[in-house]
Amino acid sequence: MVTVKNKTITVQNYIGGNWVPSSKNQTYNRENPANIEETVSICPSSTTDDANHAIEAAHEAFKTWSQVPAISRAKYLYKFADLLESHKDEVAELLTREQGKPLSESLGEVNKTIGEVRYTAGEASRLSGETLPSERENVQIRTVRVPKGVIAAISPWNFPLVTPLRKIAPALSAGNTVVFKPASITGAMGAKITELFEKTGLPPGVLNLIIGSGRSVGNQIVNHPKVRGITFTGSTEVGSSIYQLASKRLVEVQLEMGGKNAAIIYDYPDVEGAVTQIVGAAFAAAGQRCTSISRIIINERDADRVYAALKEKAEEYVIGDGLESNTTMGPLVSKDQLITTQKYVEIGHEEGATLLTGGEIKIQEKDGYYFRPTIFTNVKSNSRLAKEEIFGPVLSIMTADSFTEAIEIMNDSEYGLAASCFTKNKDYADQFVAQAEAGMIHINNGTISESHVPFGGMKASAVGPYSIGSTAKDFFTDLKVIYNAN
Ligand code: NAP
Repeated sequence: MVTVKNKTITVQNYIGGNWVPSSKNQTYNRENPANIEETVSICPSSTTDDANHAIEAAHEAFKTWSQVPAISRAKYLYKFADLLESHKDEVAELLTREQGKPLSESLGEVNKTIGEVRYTAGEASRLSGETLPSERENVQIRTVRVPKGVIAAISPWNFPLVTPLRKIAPALSAGNTVVFKPASITGAMGAKITELFEKTGLPPGVLNLIIGSGRSVGNQIVNHPKVRGITFTGSTEVGSSIYQLASKRLVEVQLEMGGKNAAIIYDYPDVEGAVTQIVGAAFAAAGQRCTSISRIIINERDADRVYAALKEKAEEYVIGDGLESNTTMGPLVSKDQLITTQKYVEIGHEEGATLLTGGEIKIQEKDGYYFRPTIFTNVKSNSRLAKEEIFGPVLSIMTADSFTEAIEIMNDSEYGLAASCFTKNKDYADQFVAQAEAGMIHINNGTISESHVPFGGMKASAVGPYSIGSTAKDFFTDLKVIYNAN
């Protein structure tokens, strides 16, 4: 249930088609990161028992939902997309109030979600197998895709709408049932998604919402024997612990995790144009995107032009409450993120990097978690600033003596999510495509992904089949091979 009083939303869990409070009747408040005196939502602090009930409900519903023809299942997704479209402004406003990003970015996320859900609904009619020749006479061989069972969908707070839908929509379309655990910080958006699904008439138990701490509720879901697949987006630290637990029970995982994405500018005459695109990819969502560019590697001879353009672009940002129409960068999502970002600025100074701009908390009249876009130059490639994911608006600039060295610096990272290269030299572009250790490669554009295209990474950034696009069904279905002798 989602109830609103003085703009504060009270939400509950959704288990087996019923809205229910935490079994211990405990709640927690989520503040507006742009104005911390305002409570956006009151959410249930769920228990491990609540998680068990949600899993049992999903397990029961799987018996009938898995038998619903795929094309009929897709109709619920189309209806969800239509409902989201008709509630677009309300959902975008909640997204901004709860997460902090500017309203224009929230509307962009809503639109992206609508497109992806419609794409995924269409994928229901492409859940095809294949026929294969046999070595023997009178034997036919074919494969079919079958749903896995109960899927755990565990999501982060930075894209609290589109990321859950990248899990829930393909899971449902393939015939699975879902236990959805949103990030605690964005529990209200989790409830809004669930409420819209309820309005589609989705049968009870097919989608269950459980709001609560990852360490208790999330951990319980990961360990439950009736959960047959875990799709997780979040930090590499938590993803890696989930991987270890899931491997003990031989359960498949799809893990989308951290990044330290680099952009190289080399032999690219329009340096200022490259910088404009890079700054957009670095500071959207206040740098809290897994595909944010956080490192730039350049040719020393371009340094003055790159630094001047970066400083100018970064200082153009209007920082404030995302609901204000002139705001181009909202607050960070939480006090923890603010402290982490501030800590990395101190680390940058200690490591001898040069602060080009930013580096400070921006306190406003109504106190929120504001931080200025921050750029360090002269960053050493083996420093913590260059290596560790900050997940805030901090860019590190390094120089390289050759294009090959630039690629080596880029690849010297535990992560491998997205990578970008600005060059007019075709050989460099080919070399980049061949050698970049990243799942998503961009030539002459920022790290912006598209909705119908597989999304994922390498190394510590991802495990399992890429999400969305044509690859999502590889995770959300199992394959059966059928030998049929006459
Ligand atoms: P996080 O701390 O790893 O949390 C992600 C989700 O996991 C939340 O729902 C969290 O619940 C839950 N969780 C925490 N501990 C758990 C446990 N032991 N067992 C099961 N679930 C647990 O990440 P975040 O801070 O929300 O998000 C930021 C991170 O996500 C960054 O590292 C970013 O790079 C990554 N990210 C990656 C992608 C991608 O596609 N590669 C996309 C977006 C974000 P609580 O909220 O209750 O702690």
